[in-house]
Amino acid sequence: MPPPTLPTLIIEDPLYLQHLTGPFHVETPERARVVNQALMQSGLKTGQNTRTPRKATKEEILLCHTEDYWQLVQDEVKYAQTDGSTELSTGDVNICPSSFEVAIRAAGGVLTAVDAILNKEGQNAFCIVRPPGHHARKAQGKGFCLFNNIAIGARYAQKKYPFIKKVLIVDWDLHHGDGTEDIFKDDPSVFYFSTHEQGNYPGTGDTLFAGEGEGVGTILNCPIRGGEEARFEILKAFYKKLIPAMETFVPNLVLISAGFDAHFLDPLGRFNLTERDFAELTILTKEIARRYAENRVISILEGGYHLLALAQSVKAHVKVLARREEIL
Ligand SMILES: [Zn+2]
Repeated sequence: MPPPTLPTLIIEDPLYLQHLTGPFHVETPERARVVNQALMQSGLKTGQNTRTPRKATKEEILLCHTEDYWQLVQDEVKYAQTDGSTELSTGDVNICPSSFEVAIRAAGGVLTAVDAILNKEGQNAFCIVRPPGHHARKAQGKGFCLFNNIAIGARYAQKKYPFIKKVLIVDWDLHHGDGTEDIFKDDPSVFYFSTHEQGNYPGTGDTLFAGEGEGVGTILNCPIRGGEEARFEILKAFYKKLIPAMETFVPNLVLISAGFDAHFLDPLGRFNLTERDFAELTILTKEIARRYAENRVISILEGGYHLLALAQSVKAHVKVLARREEIL
């Protein structure tokens, strides 16, 4: 296959800064601001490759969430404090009166990317969305997440584009994406791979859990101890577990839950990845997409709470996404 010549698209909206989480919260609007700035300064985000997201519709949110939960979020944000100090009743997500609008545009950002990539407007995409999504379960927002952006994107792609039969979700966030697992645990058409710090929030993601019913075998959890060996173990999980598993799964689309809280400077955990490691994980994931999925990769921002580390890591990640030549 010839090297791709299409651009890497960046999905971004100033509205993402309007989801306020109260003073001193780590999941701050500043995160989106520094990422945006880093990508612009390095020329990776320009007027040409940036797309404004649309809103996800109720029907699209309900691809992964219950109607009751959709209503609950809508009702609770109406009465939330304007400074973002109100917590959602289902879990630890701080909300403000704009949070619902921002959340449906965060999910919509992934849908905008799906349409753009599958219509060949770009070779791959990075979505600078907030709030993050991978802890949001069918009927429960928590862990700073309201709606599961990546899960909604996967289901939407399958529904709208019949040639997208199988989707791989690569989750390298420090935390296990229990919401994504909850949504796809019995769905054999979506493969969920996660490296996460053992014993950290939310406490799920055991190696022994491989899915339920027809979905057995399409959940690949790799809990890893924090500390010096973490970096080596994470890379090993990609090389020894993820890459071989794709030989039989054969995805048509690759999505990334790109959490940068696995960085060594991040305050929430004890993983020790560097910007260079995120670049390597990107190369490996891109290679899977090249082999099986016509290069289709959509990367979605999840965690990452050390602002400088986040900005530098996203830059390293998007730089590899945007690279034309194939490495492996
Ligand atoms: Zn995280």
